[in-house]
Amino acid sequence: MKLNLGCHLSVSGGYTNMGKEAVSIGANTFQFFTRNPRGGSVKIPSDSDIEGLVKIMDEHNFAPIIAHAPYTFNPCALDDGIRDYTKRTMAEDMKLLDKIPNALYNFHPGSHVQQGTEIGIIKTADTLNSILDKSEKTIALIETMAGKGSEIGKTFEEIAEIIEKTENKARVGVCLDTCHINDGGYDVTNNFYGVLEEFDKIIGLNKLKAVHLNDSKNPLGAHKDRHEKIGEGHLTLDGIIKAITHPYISTLPIVLETPNDLDGYAREIALLKELTIDK
Ligand code: FE
Ligand code: FE
Ligand code: ZN
Repeated sequence: MKLNLGCHLSVSGGYTNMGKEAVSIGANTFQFFTRNPRGGSVKIPSDSDIEGLVKIMDEHNFAPIIAHAPYTFNPCALDDGIRDYTKRTMAEDMKLLDKIPNALYNFHPGSHVQQGTEIGIIKTADTLNSILDKSEKTIALIETMAGKGSEIGKTFEEIAEIIEKTENKARVGVCLDTCHINDGGYDVTNNFYGVLEEFDKIIGLNKLKAVHLNDSKNPLGAHKDRHEKIGEGHLTLDGIIKAITHPYISTLPIVLETPNDLDGYAREIALLKELTIDK
């Protein structure tokens, strides 16, 4: 079986360079932070830099690539200033990504910080409603969260509610993070097919557009969010192979966010290819 595998890459060398790096490690997708994940400053890429990437994606049959919004964003912040800043930058990022065919924009639905989950959900949906018409094509992906602190998006029900309250549903999807959902109490290791059936019932499998493939340093339901290398954590290598060879998952971009440098990612991608080649 041929999977769409990739990993997180640094944007610091530019967009074309990320395409080259992905190809060099046997990937046909990747993820990157649009901006400094903690700061938020952005270096706007030139058109030729983006065209260089699109050409590589074309030549090497890339699956959609994923841009990740910075951690400093909080789409459901209590402070209107933070939320305005989040809206402005998310809209800006998505507009830039319109230049890349089928680009996906992954974001954390946010932390409600004592406002309560319900208010968090309403505010995050409002953030989406106020930005989606400022770009044309890019799909916003709500990431499934581990549920640490006051994170929203820790259950499929919460994610379904956010989508429910979004007007332009065609431009909203979900990115499933295997470490996060296992930390959230969904048993990836022993019952992944059952978990996806639940996803289908509550959200709809057609909303699932990408996967963050991570092992977890913590057991089922820990609500911690500490990623582990593939096969070295609680998800186990068997559990992970079973997950990525699921007939629907195997069609999606699958991106590693494991604690690795580029060589480590290359090894994990090679391992995953080897173990799925005749599945
Ligand atoms: Fe994330
Ligand atoms: Fe993730
Ligand atoms: Zn995480």
